Amino acid sequence: MSAITNHMPTAELQALDAAHHMHPFTTNKELAEKGARIITRAQGVTLTDSEGNQILDAMAGLWCVNIGYGRPELAEVASRQMRELPFYNTFFQTTHVPAIALSSKLAELAPGDLNHVFFAGSGSEANDTNIRMVRTYWALKGKPSKSIIISRKNAYHGSSVGSGSLGGMTYMHEQGGLPIPDVHHINQPHWWAEGGEMSPEDFGLARAQELEQAILDLGEDRVAAFIAEPIQGAGGVIIPPATYWPEIQRICDKYEILLIADEVICGFGRTGNWFGSITVGIRPDIMTIAKGLSSGYQPIGGSIVSDEVAAVMDSAEFNHGYTYSGHPVAAAVALENLRIIEEENVIGHVRDVAGPYMKKKWEALADHPLVGEARIVGLMGSIALTPHKDSRAKFASEAGTVGFICRERCFANNLVMRHVGDRMIISPPLVISTEEIDTLVERATKALDECYAELK
Ligand code: PLP
Repeated sequence: MSAITNHMPTAELQALDAAHHMHPFTTNKELAEKGARIITRAQGVTLTDSEGNQILDAMAGLWCVNIGYGRPELAEVASRQMRELPFYNTFFQTTHVPAIALSSKLAELAPGDLNHVFFAGSGSEANDTNIRMVRTYWALKGKPSKSIIISRKNAYHGSSVGSGSLGGMTYMHEQGGLPIPDVHHINQPHWWAEGGEMSPEDFGLARAQELEQAILDLGEDRVAAFIAEPIQGAGGVIIPPATYWPEIQRICDKYEILLIADEVICGFGRTGNWFGSITVGIRPDIMTIAKGLSSGYQPIGGSIVSDEVAAVMDSAEFNHGYTYSGHPVAAAVALENLRIIEEENVIGHVRDVAGPYMKKKWEALADHPLVGEARIVGLMGSIALTPHKDSRAKFASEAGTVGFICRERCFANNLVMRHVGDRMIISPPLVISTEEIDTLVERATKALDECYAELK
Protein backbone atom coordinates (compact mmCIF):
# COMPACT_ATOMS: atom_id res chain seq x y z
CA MET A 1 0.00 0.00 0.00
CA SER A 2 1.32 3.46 -0.84
CA ALA A 3 1.97 5.88 1.99
CA ILE A 4 -1.07 7.66 3.37
CA THR A 5 -0.27 11.35 3.79
CA ASN A 6 -1.84 14.77 4.25
CA HIS A 7 -1.42 15.27 0.51
CA MET A 8 -4.01 12.68 -0.48
CA PRO A 9 -7.43 13.94 -1.59
CA THR A 10 -9.81 14.39 1.32
CA ALA A 11 -12.40 11.97 -0.06
CA GLU A 12 -9.83 9.17 -0.31
CA LEU A 13 -8.66 9.72 3.26
CA GLN A 14 -12.25 9.80 4.46
CA ALA A 15 -13.06 6.53 2.69
CA LEU A 16 -10.05 4.79 4.26
CA ASP A 17 -10.94 6.24 7.64
CA ALA A 18 -14.53 5.00 7.43
CA ALA A 19 -13.33 1.59 6.25
CA HIS A 20 -10.73 0.93 8.95
CA HIS A 21 -10.90 3.36 11.84
CA MET A 22 -13.52 2.81 14.53
CA HIS A 23 -14.16 6.16 16.24
CA PRO A 24 -15.35 6.82 19.80
CA PHE A 25 -19.03 7.74 20.15
CA THR A 26 -19.59 7.52 16.34
CA THR A 27 -20.98 5.02 13.83
CA ASN A 28 -18.84 4.21 10.84
CA LYS A 29 -21.98 4.11 8.71
CA GLU A 30 -22.39 7.81 9.44
CA LEU A 31 -18.73 8.41 8.58
CA ALA A 32 -19.04 6.50 5.31
CA GLU A 33 -21.96 8.74 4.33
CA LYS A 34 -20.64 12.11 5.46
CA GLY A 35 -16.90 11.67 5.91
CA ALA A 36 -14.98 12.78 8.98
CA ARG A 37 -13.47 16.22 9.02
CA ILE A 38 -9.71 15.71 8.73
CA ILE A 39 -7.61 18.01 10.86
CA THR A 40 -4.13 18.33 9.47
CA ARG A 41 -2.41 20.92 11.64
CA ALA A 42 -3.00 23.48 14.37
CA GLN A 43 -1.44 26.60 15.81
CA GLY A 44 -2.54 28.65 18.80
CA VAL A 45 -6.35 28.38 18.86
CA THR A 46 -6.70 27.61 15.15
CA LEU A 47 -7.11 24.26 13.41
CA THR A 48 -6.48 23.67 9.71
CA ASP A 49 -8.41 20.93 7.94
CA SER A 50 -7.56 18.98 4.80
CA GLU A 51 -9.53 21.46 2.68
CA GLY A 52 -7.48 24.36 4.00
CA ASN A 53 -10.23 25.78 6.25
CA GLN A 54 -9.02 27.74 9.27
CA ILE A 55 -11.24 26.81 12.21
CA LEU A 56 -11.34 28.44 15.63
CA ASP A 57 -11.26 25.64 18.17
CA ALA A 58 -13.54 26.76 20.98
CA MET A 59 -13.26 23.31 22.60
CA ALA A 60 -9.44 23.14 23.01
CA GLY A 61 -9.53 19.73 21.31
CA LEU A 62 -11.47 17.80 23.93
CA TRP A 63 -11.19 20.39 26.74
CA CYS A 64 -7.48 19.79 26.96
CA VAL A 65 -5.20 22.02 24.87
CA ASN A 66 -4.92 24.63 27.60
CA ILE A 67 -1.71 26.27 26.35
CA GLY A 68 -2.83 26.20 22.71
CA TYR A 69 -1.45 24.22 19.80
CA GLY A 70 2.02 24.23 18.32
CA ARG A 71 4.30 24.96 21.27
CA PRO A 72 7.75 23.80 20.14
CA GLU A 73 9.06 23.58 23.73
CA LEU A 74 6.90 20.52 24.37
CA ALA A 75 8.07 18.84 21.17
CA GLU A 76 11.68 19.49 22.15
CA VAL A 77 11.24 18.09 25.65
CA ALA A 78 9.52 14.98 24.22
CA SER A 79 12.29 14.45 21.71
CA ARG A 80 15.01 14.90 24.34
CA GLN A 81 13.30 12.53 26.75
CA MET A 82 12.73 9.92 24.03
CA ARG A 83 16.41 9.92 23.24
CA GLU A 84 17.50 9.81 26.88
CA LEU A 85 14.96 7.38 28.38
CA PRO A 86 11.92 6.62 26.19
CA PHE A 87 10.36 4.25 28.68
CA TYR A 88 10.85 2.75 32.03
CA ASN A 89 8.22 1.55 34.44
CA THR A 90 7.57 2.69 37.98
CA PHE A 91 6.70 -0.77 39.35
CA PHE A 92 9.01 -2.89 41.54
CA GLN A 93 10.97 -0.19 43.38
CA THR A 94 12.11 1.72 40.31
CA THR A 95 11.51 5.30 39.32
CA HIS A 96 12.85 8.01 37.02
CA VAL A 97 13.40 11.75 37.14
CA PRO A 98 10.38 12.88 35.05
CA ALA A 99 7.96 11.04 37.39
CA ILE A 100 9.76 12.38 40.48
CA ALA A 101 9.76 15.92 39.14
CA LEU A 102 6.13 15.89 37.99
CA SER A 103 4.76 14.39 41.20
CA SER A 104 6.75 16.93 43.26
CA LYS A 105 5.44 19.79 41.13
CA LEU A 106 1.85 18.58 41.42
CA ALA A 107 2.21 18.30 45.20
CA GLU A 108 3.35 21.94 45.21
CA LEU A 109 0.44 23.12 43.03
CA ALA A 110 -2.40 21.11 44.53
CA PRO A 111 -4.28 22.69 47.44
CA GLY A 112 -4.18 21.57 51.09
CA ASP A 113 -2.37 18.35 51.87
CA LEU A 114 -2.84 16.75 48.45
CA ASN A 115 0.79 15.71 48.22
CA HIS A 116 0.86 12.29 46.58
CA VAL A 117 0.29 11.31 42.96
CA PHE A 118 -0.68 7.96 41.44
CA PHE A 119 -0.17 8.25 37.68
CA ALA A 120 -2.36 6.82 34.94
CA GLY A 121 -2.58 7.16 31.19
CA SER A 122 -5.92 8.97 31.11
CA GLY A 123 -8.77 10.37 33.17
CA SER A 124 -10.70 7.10 32.85
CA GLU A 125 -7.79 5.10 34.20
CA ALA A 126 -7.31 7.57 37.03
CA ASN A 127 -10.95 7.24 38.05
CA ASP A 128 -10.60 3.46 37.94
CA THR A 129 -7.66 3.90 40.30
CA ASN A 130 -9.90 6.00 42.54
CA ILE A 131 -12.58 3.30 42.74
CA ARG A 132 -10.03 0.74 43.89
CA MET A 133 -8.19 3.24 46.10
CA VAL A 134 -11.16 4.44 48.14
CA ARG A 135 -12.46 0.91 48.67
CA THR A 136 -9.00 -0.30 49.66
CA TYR A 137 -8.57 2.71 51.95
CA TRP A 138 -11.69 1.83 53.93
CA ALA A 139 -10.83 -1.87 53.99
CA LEU A 140 -7.39 -1.02 55.38
CA LYS A 141 -9.08 1.11 58.02
CA GLY A 142 -11.09 -1.94 59.08
CA LYS A 143 -14.31 -0.88 57.38
CA PRO A 144 -14.55 -3.08 54.25
CA SER A 145 -18.31 -2.58 54.05
CA LYS A 146 -17.73 1.04 53.03
CA SER A 147 -17.60 0.35 49.31
CA ILE A 148 -20.37 2.41 47.73
CA ILE A 149 -19.34 5.41 45.66
CA ILE A 150 -22.00 8.04 45.15
CA SER A 151 -21.92 9.96 41.90
CA ARG A 152 -24.45 11.97 39.93
CA LYS A 153 -26.77 11.43 37.03
CA ASN A 154 -25.47 13.00 33.82
CA ALA A 155 -21.91 13.03 35.20
CA TYR A 156 -19.02 12.05 32.92
CA HIS A 157 -16.01 10.39 34.52
CA GLY A 158 -14.63 8.37 31.61
CA SER A 159 -15.38 5.45 29.37
CA SER A 160 -13.74 2.40 30.96
CA VAL A 161 -15.97 -0.07 32.80
CA GLY A 162 -15.23 1.50 36.18
CA SER A 163 -15.21 5.17 35.24
CA GLY A 164 -18.19 4.70 32.90
CA SER A 165 -20.05 3.27 35.89
CA LEU A 166 -19.17 6.30 38.00
CA GLY A 167 -20.52 8.44 35.20
CA GLY A 168 -24.24 8.93 35.10
CA MET A 169 -24.80 8.71 31.37
CA THR A 170 -27.62 6.21 30.91
CA TYR A 171 -26.88 5.75 27.21
CA MET A 172 -23.44 4.48 28.24
CA HIS A 173 -24.84 2.19 30.93
CA GLU A 174 -27.05 0.57 28.29
CA GLN A 175 -24.00 -1.00 26.62
CA GLY A 176 -21.55 -3.52 28.03
CA GLY A 177 -23.06 -4.32 31.40
CA LEU A 178 -22.52 -1.06 33.29
CA PRO A 179 -22.68 0.09 36.02
CA ILE A 180 -20.56 -2.14 38.24
CA PRO A 181 -22.03 -2.88 41.69
CA ASP A 182 -21.89 -0.39 44.54
CA VAL A 183 -22.16 2.79 42.53
CA HIS A 184 -25.13 4.99 43.32
CA HIS A 185 -26.26 8.06 41.38
CA ILE A 186 -28.07 11.06 42.80
CA ASN A 187 -29.52 14.02 40.89
CA GLN A 188 -27.35 16.77 39.43
CA PRO A 189 -27.55 20.47 40.42
CA HIS A 190 -28.89 21.49 37.00
CA TRP A 191 -31.23 24.34 37.92
CA TRP A 192 -31.99 25.47 34.37
CA ALA A 193 -33.35 22.08 33.30
CA GLU A 194 -34.63 20.65 36.55
CA GLY A 195 -35.14 23.50 39.01
CA GLY A 196 -38.85 24.03 38.35
CA GLU A 197 -40.25 26.88 40.44
CA MET A 198 -37.47 26.77 43.06
CA SER A 199 -34.91 29.55 43.36
CA PRO A 200 -31.42 28.47 42.25
CA GLU A 201 -30.23 28.79 45.88
CA ASP A 202 -32.95 26.56 47.32
CA PHE A 203 -32.52 24.12 44.47
CA GLY A 204 -28.73 23.93 44.99
CA LEU A 205 -29.27 23.17 48.65
CA ALA A 206 -31.95 20.58 47.95
CA ARG A 207 -29.79 18.77 45.39
CA ALA A 208 -26.81 18.73 47.78
CA GLN A 209 -29.02 17.35 50.53
CA GLU A 210 -29.82 14.40 48.28
CA LEU A 211 -26.31 13.27 49.14
CA GLU A 212 -27.17 13.24 52.85
CA GLN A 213 -30.39 11.36 52.15
CA ALA A 214 -28.54 8.80 50.03
CA ILE A 215 -25.98 8.26 52.80
CA LEU A 216 -28.78 7.75 55.34
CA ASP A 217 -30.70 5.42 53.00
CA LEU A 218 -27.69 3.34 51.99
CA GLY A 219 -26.15 3.37 55.47
CA GLU A 220 -23.25 5.48 56.67
CA ASP A 221 -21.23 2.30 57.13
CA ARG A 222 -21.65 1.46 53.43
CA VAL A 223 -20.60 4.69 51.72
CA ALA A 224 -16.94 5.19 50.78
CA ALA A 225 -16.86 8.34 48.70
CA PHE A 226 -18.66 10.97 46.69
CA ILE A 227 -17.26 11.90 43.27
CA ALA A 228 -18.16 14.96 41.22
CA GLU A 229 -16.68 17.56 38.93
CA PRO A 230 -16.57 21.05 40.49
CA ILE A 231 -18.40 22.15 37.32
CA GLN A 232 -19.87 19.40 35.12
CA GLY A 233 -18.27 19.63 31.68
CA ALA A 234 -19.45 16.93 29.29
CA GLY A 235 -22.87 16.97 30.97
CA GLY A 236 -23.35 20.44 29.43
CA VAL A 237 -21.18 22.85 31.45
CA ILE A 238 -23.55 22.94 34.37
CA ILE A 239 -22.53 25.58 36.87
CA PRO A 240 -24.11 24.66 40.20
CA PRO A 241 -25.89 27.26 42.35
CA ALA A 242 -23.57 28.85 44.94
CA THR A 243 -25.30 26.96 47.76
CA TYR A 244 -24.44 23.53 46.36
CA TRP A 245 -20.78 22.90 47.11
CA PRO A 246 -20.60 24.24 50.69
CA GLU A 247 -23.44 21.87 51.59
CA ILE A 248 -21.76 18.92 49.88
CA GLN A 249 -18.55 19.65 51.80
CA ARG A 250 -20.50 19.84 55.08
CA ILE A 251 -22.13 16.47 54.41
CA CYS A 252 -18.87 14.76 53.41
CA ASP A 253 -17.24 16.08 56.60
CA LYS A 254 -20.17 15.09 58.82
CA TYR A 255 -20.33 11.49 57.60
CA GLU A 256 -16.58 11.06 56.91
CA ILE A 257 -17.15 10.38 53.23
CA LEU A 258 -14.11 10.81 51.00
CA LEU A 259 -14.61 13.62 48.52
CA ILE A 260 -13.19 12.99 45.04
CA ALA A 261 -13.06 16.08 42.83
CA ASP A 262 -12.81 15.09 39.20
CA GLU A 263 -10.59 17.89 37.90
CA VAL A 264 -10.02 16.36 34.47
CA ILE A 265 -11.64 19.39 32.81
CA CYS A 266 -11.64 21.97 35.63
CA GLY A 267 -7.96 21.51 36.49
CA PHE A 268 -4.97 23.49 35.28
CA GLY A 269 -6.54 26.90 34.93
CA ARG A 270 -9.85 26.28 33.19
CA THR A 271 -11.89 28.04 35.90
CA GLY A 272 -9.37 30.80 36.63
CA ASN A 273 -7.52 28.94 39.40
CA TRP A 274 -5.15 26.01 39.28
CA PHE A 275 -8.05 23.75 40.21
CA GLY A 276 -11.84 23.96 40.10
CA SER A 277 -11.89 22.87 43.75
CA ILE A 278 -10.32 26.22 44.65
CA THR A 279 -12.92 28.08 42.57
CA VAL A 280 -15.87 26.36 44.27
CA GLY A 281 -14.20 26.28 47.70
CA ILE A 282 -13.95 22.58 48.51
CA ARG A 283 -11.28 20.44 50.18
CA PRO A 284 -11.16 17.14 48.28
CA ASP A 285 -9.35 14.06 49.59
CA ILE A 286 -8.53 12.98 46.05
CA MET A 287 -8.42 14.87 42.76
CA THR A 288 -8.58 13.21 39.35
CA ILE A 289 -6.38 14.92 36.78
CA ALA A 290 -5.69 14.45 33.04
CA LYS A 291 -6.25 16.57 29.90
CA GLY A 292 -4.80 20.03 30.81
CA LEU A 293 -2.03 18.30 32.79
CA SER A 294 -0.15 17.93 29.50
CA SER A 295 -2.43 20.23 27.47
CA GLY A 296 -3.22 17.03 25.57
CA TYR A 297 0.27 16.87 24.02
CA GLN A 298 0.78 13.46 25.66
CA PRO A 299 -1.73 11.04 27.19
CA ILE A 300 -1.34 11.24 30.96
CA GLY A 301 -3.63 11.37 33.98
CA GLY A 302 -3.50 10.65 37.67
CA SER A 303 -4.97 10.87 41.14
CA ILE A 304 -3.62 13.43 43.61
CA VAL A 305 -4.17 12.11 47.09
CA SER A 306 -4.16 13.62 50.59
CA ASP A 307 -1.53 12.84 53.25
CA GLU A 308 -4.14 10.91 55.22
CA VAL A 309 -5.29 8.73 52.31
CA ALA A 310 -1.69 8.10 51.24
CA ALA A 311 -0.68 7.13 54.79
CA VAL A 312 -3.48 4.56 55.04
CA MET A 313 -2.78 3.22 51.55
CA ASP A 314 0.83 2.78 52.59
CA SER A 315 -0.09 0.15 55.16
CA ALA A 316 -0.34 -2.46 52.39
CA GLU A 317 0.82 -2.95 48.83
CA PHE A 318 -1.74 -1.51 46.37
CA ASN A 319 -2.12 -4.23 43.75
CA HIS A 320 -2.78 -1.78 40.99
CA GLY A 321 -0.90 0.08 38.24
CA TYR A 322 -0.56 0.67 34.54
CA THR A 323 2.39 0.05 32.21
CA TYR A 324 2.31 3.75 31.40
CA SER A 325 1.86 5.04 35.00
CA GLY A 326 4.23 8.02 35.08
CA HIS A 327 5.48 7.42 31.52
CA PRO A 328 8.74 9.40 31.27
CA VAL A 329 7.94 11.16 27.99
CA ALA A 330 4.41 12.06 29.06
CA ALA A 331 5.65 13.19 32.48
CA ALA A 332 8.42 15.35 31.00
CA VAL A 333 5.97 16.97 28.58
CA ALA A 334 3.42 17.57 31.36
CA LEU A 335 6.11 19.21 33.47
CA GLU A 336 7.05 21.52 30.62
CA ASN A 337 3.36 22.34 30.12
CA LEU A 338 3.06 23.28 33.81
CA ARG A 339 6.20 25.42 33.49
CA ILE A 340 4.61 27.33 30.61
CA ILE A 341 1.31 27.77 32.48
CA GLU A 342 3.18 29.11 35.50
CA GLU A 343 5.89 31.25 33.86
CA GLU A 344 3.56 32.75 31.25
CA ASN A 345 0.91 33.45 33.88
CA VAL A 346 -1.72 31.62 31.84
CA ILE A 347 -4.02 31.39 34.85
CA GLY A 348 -3.72 35.13 35.50
CA HIS A 349 -4.68 35.64 31.84
CA VAL A 350 -7.84 33.55 32.38
CA ARG A 351 -8.67 35.26 35.67
CA ASP A 352 -7.93 38.87 34.77
CA VAL A 353 -8.05 39.21 30.97
CA ALA A 354 -9.66 36.50 28.83
CA GLY A 355 -12.14 35.30 31.47
CA PRO A 356 -13.75 38.68 32.29
CA TYR A 357 -13.67 39.75 28.61
CA MET A 358 -15.32 36.53 27.51
CA LYS A 359 -17.85 36.64 30.37
CA LYS A 360 -19.17 40.00 29.23
CA LYS A 361 -19.52 38.90 25.63
CA TRP A 362 -20.78 35.42 26.41
CA GLU A 363 -23.45 36.54 28.86
CA ALA A 364 -24.68 39.06 26.27
CA LEU A 365 -25.63 36.09 24.07
CA ALA A 366 -28.53 35.60 26.49
CA ASP A 367 -30.24 38.44 24.54
CA HIS A 368 -30.42 36.25 21.44
CA PRO A 369 -33.98 35.01 20.75
CA LEU A 370 -32.83 31.39 20.76
CA VAL A 371 -30.90 31.58 24.04
CA GLY A 372 -32.36 31.08 27.51
CA GLU A 373 -29.28 31.33 29.67
CA ALA A 374 -25.62 32.02 28.91
CA ARG A 375 -23.20 31.31 31.73
CA ILE A 376 -19.45 30.93 32.06
CA VAL A 377 -16.81 30.42 34.75
CA GLY A 378 -13.25 31.15 33.69
CA LEU A 379 -13.16 29.78 30.17
CA MET A 380 -15.80 27.09 30.52
CA GLY A 381 -19.22 28.20 29.32
CA SER A 382 -22.59 27.09 28.05
CA ILE A 383 -25.75 28.45 26.54
CA ALA A 384 -29.17 26.85 26.78
CA LEU A 385 -31.16 26.94 23.55
CA THR A 386 -34.89 27.30 24.08
CA PRO A 387 -38.04 28.02 22.05
CA HIS A 388 -39.37 30.49 24.68
CA LYS A 389 -36.68 32.54 26.34
CA ASP A 390 -38.51 33.37 29.52
CA SER A 391 -39.97 30.00 30.43
CA ARG A 392 -36.95 27.62 30.31
CA ALA A 393 -39.06 25.53 27.91
CA LYS A 394 -37.71 22.60 25.95
CA PHE A 395 -38.11 22.20 22.19
CA ALA A 396 -40.87 19.88 20.96
CA SER A 397 -38.27 18.03 18.85
CA GLU A 398 -36.16 15.23 20.31
CA ALA A 399 -33.53 16.64 22.70
CA GLY A 400 -30.38 17.51 20.81
CA THR A 401 -32.02 18.17 17.43
CA VAL A 402 -31.66 21.94 17.67
CA GLY A 403 -28.25 21.66 19.34
CA PHE A 404 -27.07 19.56 16.42
CA ILE A 405 -28.30 22.11 13.87
CA CYS A 406 -26.50 24.84 15.79
CA ARG A 407 -23.29 22.82 15.96
CA GLU A 408 -23.43 22.25 12.20
CA ARG A 409 -23.92 26.01 11.67
CA CYS A 410 -20.86 26.60 13.87
CA PHE A 411 -18.81 24.20 11.73
CA ALA A 412 -20.01 25.95 8.58
CA ASN A 413 -18.75 29.21 10.11
CA ASN A 414 -15.37 27.73 11.00
CA LEU A 415 -16.02 27.43 14.70
CA VAL A 416 -15.79 24.26 16.77
CA MET A 417 -18.41 24.49 19.48
CA ARG A 418 -20.02 21.32 20.84
CA HIS A 419 -23.60 20.60 21.74
CA VAL A 420 -24.86 18.50 24.63
CA GLY A 421 -28.53 18.01 23.94
CA ASP A 422 -29.77 21.52 23.26
CA ARG A 423 -26.95 23.23 25.15
CA MET A 424 -23.98 24.70 23.32
CA ILE A 425 -20.68 24.55 25.18
CA ILE A 426 -17.25 26.10 24.92
CA SER A 427 -13.88 25.51 26.51
CA PRO A 428 -11.28 27.28 24.34
CA PRO A 429 -7.51 27.19 24.84
CA LEU A 430 -6.69 29.32 27.89
CA VAL A 431 -4.26 31.45 25.89
CA ILE A 432 -7.03 32.83 23.67
CA SER A 433 -6.61 36.57 23.01
CA THR A 434 -9.34 39.21 23.23
CA GLU A 435 -9.32 39.54 19.41
CA GLU A 436 -9.84 35.79 19.09
CA ILE A 437 -12.68 36.00 21.62
CA ASP A 438 -14.29 38.64 19.39
CA THR A 439 -14.05 36.22 16.45
CA LEU A 440 -15.39 33.34 18.52
CA VAL A 441 -18.45 35.30 19.66
CA GLU A 442 -19.06 36.75 16.18
CA ARG A 443 -19.07 33.28 14.65
CA ALA A 444 -21.22 31.86 17.46
CA THR A 445 -23.74 34.69 16.97
CA LYS A 446 -23.86 34.07 13.23
CA ALA A 447 -24.40 30.34 13.84
CA LEU A 448 -27.21 31.12 16.30
CA ASP A 449 -28.83 33.50 13.79
CA GLU A 450 -28.67 30.86 11.06
CA CYS A 451 -30.02 28.19 13.37
CA TYR A 452 -32.87 30.48 14.44
CA ALA A 453 -33.71 31.23 10.78
CA GLU A 454 -33.68 27.52 9.95
CA LEU A 455 -36.15 26.75 12.76
CA LYS A 456 -38.67 29.35 11.66
N1 PLP B 1 -13.43 12.91 33.89
C1 PLP B 1 -13.93 13.96 33.25
C2 PLP B 1 -14.55 15.05 34.04
C3 PLP B 1 -13.86 14.05 31.86
O1 PLP B 1 -14.39 15.11 31.23
C4 PLP B 1 -13.24 13.01 31.14
C5 PLP B 1 -13.13 13.07 29.68
O2 PLP B 1 -13.74 13.89 29.03
C6 PLP B 1 -12.74 11.93 31.86
C7 PLP B 1 -12.83 11.91 33.23
C8 PLP B 1 -12.10 10.78 31.16
O3 PLP B 1 -10.86 11.15 30.69
P1 PLP B 1 -10.18 10.33 29.49
O4 PLP B 1 -11.00 10.57 28.27
O5 PLP B 1 -8.79 10.91 29.44
O6 PLP B 1 -10.16 8.90 29.87
